[in-house]
Amino acid sequence: MLDQTSPAPGAEASAQETYALVVIGAGIAGLNALYAATEYLPKGARVLLVDEKPDAGGMWNTAYDYVRLHQPHPMFAVGDMAWDWRKPRSYLAKRDEVQTHLGQALTPIAAQVGLQTAFGCVATACAEVSTAQGPMAEIRYHPLGAPDQEVTVRATRAIHAAGLNYGLAQPLALRSAEVVSIIPQELAATLAAHPGAPVHVVGGGKTGMDTVLATLAADPARQITLYKGRGTNFLNRTRYLPMGIKRWTSGALVSRLFRDVALTYDGTQDDALIAHIRKTHSTDPETPNEVFLYGLQSEEEQARIQSGLSATHADYLEDVVDGATGPEIRLRQGASLPVPPGSIFVNCGGSFFRDAEMPPVMPVLSPQGAILSINTRHAFHFLTSVAGFFGAHLLYRDQLRGAGFYALDLEGLFRADRKAWVGASAAQAYHNQVLAVQTLPMMLLDRCGLDLDRWYPLPRRLLALAQMRATAKADLAHCRKVLELVTARYGIDAGPI
Ligand SMILES: Cc1cc2nc3c(=O)[nH]c(=O)nc-3n(C[C@H](O)[C@H](O)[C@H](O)COP(=O)(O)OP(=O)(O)OC[C@H]3O[C@@H](n4cnc5c(N)ncnc54)[C@H](O)[C@@H]3O)c2cc1C
Repeated sequence: MLDQTSPAPGAEASAQETYALVVIGAGIAGLNALYAATEYLPKGARVLLVDEKPDAGGMWNTAYDYVRLHQPHPMFAVGDMAWDWRKPRSYLAKRDEVQTHLGQALTPIAAQVGLQTAFGCVATACAEVSTAQGPMAEIRYHPLGAPDQEVTVRATRAIHAAGLNYGLAQPLALRSAEVVSIIPQELAATLAAHPGAPVHVVGGGKTGMDTVLATLAADPARQITLYKGRGTNFLNRTRYLPMGIKRWTSGALVSRLFRDVALTYDGTQDDALIAHIRKTHSTDPETPNEVFLYGLQSEEEQARIQSGLSATHADYLEDVVDGATGPEIRLRQGASLPVPPGSIFVNCGGSFFRDAEMPPVMPVLSPQGAILSINTRHAFHFLTSVAGFFGAHLLYRDQLRGAGFYALDLEGLFRADRKAWVGASAAQAYHNQVLAVQTLPMMLLDRCGLDLDRWYPLPRRLLALAQMRATAKADLAHCRKVLELVTARYGIDAGPI
């Protein structure tokens, strides 16, 4: 049963409302956690899902319209829910398709529990409280823009899955009035309104690559310049998610790739690790790109981007100013170059961890175990979706605490050193995956649709699993040592949950 709840005005009236579970955040992390939790809740249990957006799907409601998944769509999943269509497995779903798919996940969930949704509502507090019935979670929320209508509810358990705090970018504040400064959400309309105007893509990450490809698709003759800063490495999807018979004969399972990254890192040689990833796993091994954020790219996409670009600057755009003869770009390393009036500048800068202030630390598991938090400061896994799936199963099985799972301040480390973040996030991800394999039943692990190893045939997956088990003890020790070393280097909070 699915009901949209609207909070009654006044905290008093709703203070008695109690739920078996309240989930804050209807992105892929919250949905995975909610779906996992339904397996442990009695049929018809009262469950409340709160999200400030008007619908489920999280950031896929607000991301730019041409964003696509970078992994095959079946592996962007809520538990083991299949996509409701028959497209090739390799198809990379578009934004609205992803949002629709995530929204549809509520139907099977509502068939199991008494699900109420509070969309368009912002949660302002989620804290553990002692009650006569034992520890509970107390949640306060109100409709967006109406804090006077705040209500307070209690739940046996709460899952706080606020996500990575993805916010809409702002257009770059450029001093020249003769150029057009936009965000990706405005690309299609701006291209249509300014036919022939050169496009400047500011940012070399996934959004930048999507923007180059979308511009080329709209107008193959358009002049495109890329400002890629330190340059981003992308994992080679052609090699690691191969097609057809090659799924049997080539590539490598993504868990093996994670192990390689985790074991290559010793906690100190950050530059060498990035060079290793670039040379061994990326689509562009020859260019000394320095950033790595786990983005996937095919060799064909890489070739299309390279041949479609008129110019690439391995530098940062600082400003565009009006010079004596027209607009001029200013680059961080000092170069200054003319651009035609009417040029379009698209802000494709980083989407994550950009707020001036870091969010406060919320423990993965509250002291009395009533609240699971999927966050960036005391994180279980850099993929919030994976954290949602495993976090909720481990929570309800009472195995999240004391089993050795490692939590890490990923945001703090990212802000301190992005290269060390790569090594540590891989070490943590592999460490917690190996422990999950040791802790959880096989049947349950097999229902994690997010697992990219599922791309490969079963015999190869079983072999990889056997390999993982065979080296588990030494690998876990290595990952723990790496995590201790790198977090000590930066004074970052980390440790077993
Ligand atoms: C441009 C871009 C492209 C990406 N592409 C991919 C990709 O191809 N593949 C991939 O695996 N990942 C991709 N990612 C990473 C992506 O962030 C995750 O895949 C995933 O969608 C994040 O899910 P989430 O549930 O953690 O967060 P979100 O999707 O951000 O969901 C969190 C939800 O919580 C709600 N919320 C937060 N706080 C509150 C509150 N206090 N009260 C009420 N509601 C609240 C928010 O409104 C939001 O709906 C991409 C990210 C970006 C920015």
